[in-house]
Amino acid sequence: MYEKYKNAVVTGSARGIGAAIAKKLASKGINVVVSDVLDEELRQTAKEIESIGVKSLPVKADVTKKEDVEKLIKTTVEKFGSIDFLINNAGITRDNLSVRMTEEEWDMVLNINLKGTFLCSQAAAIEMMKNKFGRIVNLASISGILGTPGQANYASSKAGVIALTKSFARELGKRNITVNAVAPGYILTDMTVKLPDKVKEDYLASIPLKRAGTPDDIAEVVSFLISPSASYITGTVINVSGGLLI
Ligand code: NDP
Repeated sequence: MYEKYKNAVVTGSARGIGAAIAKKLASKGINVVVSDVLDEELRQTAKEIESIGVKSLPVKADVTKKEDVEKLIKTTVEKFGSIDFLINNAGITRDNLSVRMTEEEWDMVLNINLKGTFLCSQAAAIEMMKNKFGRIVNLASISGILGTPGQANYASSKAGVIALTKSFARELGKRNITVNAVAPGYILTDMTVKLPDKVKEDYLASIPLKRAGTPDDIAEVVSFLISPSASYITGTVINVSGGLLI
């Protein structure tokens, strides 16, 4: 990891993939501001990170609220001195067939997954530009490339995240800020535990590596993308799906 750059924000990091990313970065010596709408779980994750031997701070923030996002970035800079890495992980699903999908289900998913990623990236980029360094990693999904039945809202939001990643990468490259995305396939978390058994069986049958992914599979790739080894990579989407998407 970088000697000089040590401070990360991970959104939606109370549990699941976000918590795994936060712990992975901590294990590499990075201080992590963990952020989520879940207060109690968040404090617990922050404690676990501190026990790894780096600084951690829980900041409750809803990524759809501009004032929460600005407070999150401001607090990070005030307490840690800078924001060097931003991992836009907060995301939800509200599955329904397109003809039955309510406007609320559409708006909620687009707001959290896409608008939230935009607001956090914008606020962080303003700080990163001052330091002429930054690494942003967005959680997309293979759904955003393939489209998924029952997930018109989710797939559209993740396709948007991919386009947002490329647009920010083109704008911020000259400031030494890279912006990349990871597109997970079927990963075992609270988000996927609620899928119908038939859907899970179909996924497993279609994955060439014959297993579901783990949050750690994703955390490893995020850790690579913010490391010096990836300093010449920007605007890319890394497919981490065990071959579900080839
Ligand atoms: P989880 O539901 O386990 O965790 C997501 C976290 O984000 C939760 O703690 C959730 O809180 C939080 N969150 C929700 N809304 C907001 C908000 N408005 N502001 C801040 N935090 C919020 O999901 P995963 O760990 O599985 O997913 C993490 C990311 O990876 C998501 O972007 C997801 O789309 C993506 N992904 C996951 C895949 C999988 O198979 N699991 C596959 C492809 C992509 P709360 O519980 O209150 O909603």
